[in-house]
Amino acid sequence: MNRVLRTALKSVRSDKPKLMRGGSARRHHSSYDVAVVGAGIVGLAAARELILRHPLLSFVLLEKEKELATHQSGHNSGVVHSGIYYTPGSLKARLCVRGATLAYEYFEKKGVPYKRCGKLIVAVEQEEIPRLKALYDRGMKNNVRDLSIVDAKGIREREPYCRGVMALDSPYTGIVDWRMVALRYASDFEEAGGTVRTEYKVSDISTVKESPAGSTEGIKYPISIRDEKGNEVWCRYVLTCGGLYSDRLSQISGCSPEPRIVPFRGDYLVLKPDKCYLVRGNIYPVPNPRFPFLGVHFTPRMDGGVWLGPNAVLAFKREGYKAYDFSAQDFADALSFRGLQKLVLRNLTYGFGEMYRGVFIGAQIKILQKYVPELALNDVLRGPAGVRAQALDRDGNLVDDFVFDGGVGAVGSRVLHVRNAPSPAATSSLAIAEMIADEVESRFNL
Ligand SMILES: Cc1cc2nc3c(=O)[nH]c(=O)nc-3n(C[C@H](O)[C@H](O)[C@H](O)COP(=O)(O)OP(=O)(O)OC[C@H]3O[C@@H](n4cnc5c(N)ncnc54)[C@H](O)[C@@H]3O)c2cc1C
Repeated sequence: MNRVLRTALKSVRSDKPKLMRGGSARRHHSSYDVAVVGAGIVGLAAARELILRHPLLSFVLLEKEKELATHQSGHNSGVVHSGIYYTPGSLKARLCVRGATLAYEYFEKKGVPYKRCGKLIVAVEQEEIPRLKALYDRGMKNNVRDLSIVDAKGIREREPYCRGVMALDSPYTGIVDWRMVALRYASDFEEAGGTVRTEYKVSDISTVKESPAGSTEGIKYPISIRDEKGNEVWCRYVLTCGGLYSDRLSQISGCSPEPRIVPFRGDYLVLKPDKCYLVRGNIYPVPNPRFPFLGVHFTPRMDGGVWLGPNAVLAFKREGYKAYDFSAQDFADALSFRGLQKLVLRNLTYGFGEMYRGVFIGAQIKILQKYVPELALNDVLRGPAGVRAQALDRDGNLVDDFVFDGGVGAVGSRVLHVRNAPSPAATSSLAIAEMIADEVESRFNL
């Protein structure tokens, strides 16, 4: 949209955000048509999609941190997934495949640096071959582009230091800095006239209680969103995309506590710079269907580095990136949840194994050496970590699909919570944004 058109649209925008003084307490607030809470890649993509579709409405994005996209969207493997793993026909599969296509188009259009360096899912033992072939069938059903099966020689041609008996080759898989992408979505949003407010930790969503005398403002913008410092934003509709806090945000408007978010920390190792030649593209194991996560993998980074990981261990704090980060509330919340107790009981060996390998990295290296035998303990350093928002139901099942929720009463009918946007939501972000925007439009008659 060119600058002249944008300026013109701003001037005709029906409800330009303005600072108002409200009620006897003379509290400042500003009013918008739509408020989006949470500036991770999902909130940013959704806000961007909505404002591009509805340029005459006013939008605000509220984020609790000083900077945008600092949590899951800024702590991940940086892979552009192609959509191989997911059940054919599922929303997750469709959104990932469409999301990857939209993402590559977006990178090209906006000049976002990326590399389509490909991915091998490698079977290192004969017994993994049937599962590898089943993955190939899944990928084909999901319309993943350019998939093929390669033998040991094909593996070496693509990854000279990798060993395996057979692999699934996905040259369409790539890498990108997802935080950079999220920040580009934010720029698009702001250029289209949206307002971004950081350090705004939403703690209450309710109906407006006191409108300025003689003003119809509280009728027009009936929802009040407050932060912990007592700031207030009034709006007509709210969309929340709270990542690791999506369940708690949902409870504010009366939703059930389930599905519950349980934080799983993933620690990475990094290859020392003189060893990065060992890996060209992404190298993944064949996932074991008995375990909930994909398994540790080798992932090249946009800066030329290579990360190995992540493992998956229960985190004692949501948004806690160090092993000793601890929150009494988060810890008690997780441990008292029956869903987590059941998941832990079902995966005791796996869970302890992940914890053990997190502490003793020699054990992790042993697993990685199955894929790259030349790798040695001395070649790696401890690296960063990410925390995944894993939604769990009360029976301990990982919630694998999207969950939308509203709430109760007058507030509930004007709020849409994205309670679960399952991984790989960065890859799928532009497709997820289309789906969220459709949902917002149909729920709120926009
Ligand atoms: C270790 C790891 C590796 C991954 N690897 C990949 C990958 O390679 N490729 C891929 O596509 N995906 C990957 N993912 C998944 C992907 O990163 C996430 O699915 C995606 O970033 C989720 O985005 P989000 O916006 O939902 O959450 P987040 O990025 O966590 O954003 C939520 C935002 O809400 C804000 N918020 C929360 N509560 C409030 C409040 N009360 N008030 C205001 N703001 C609030 C938070 O501060 C945060 O900024 C990975 C995830 C992890 C953890």
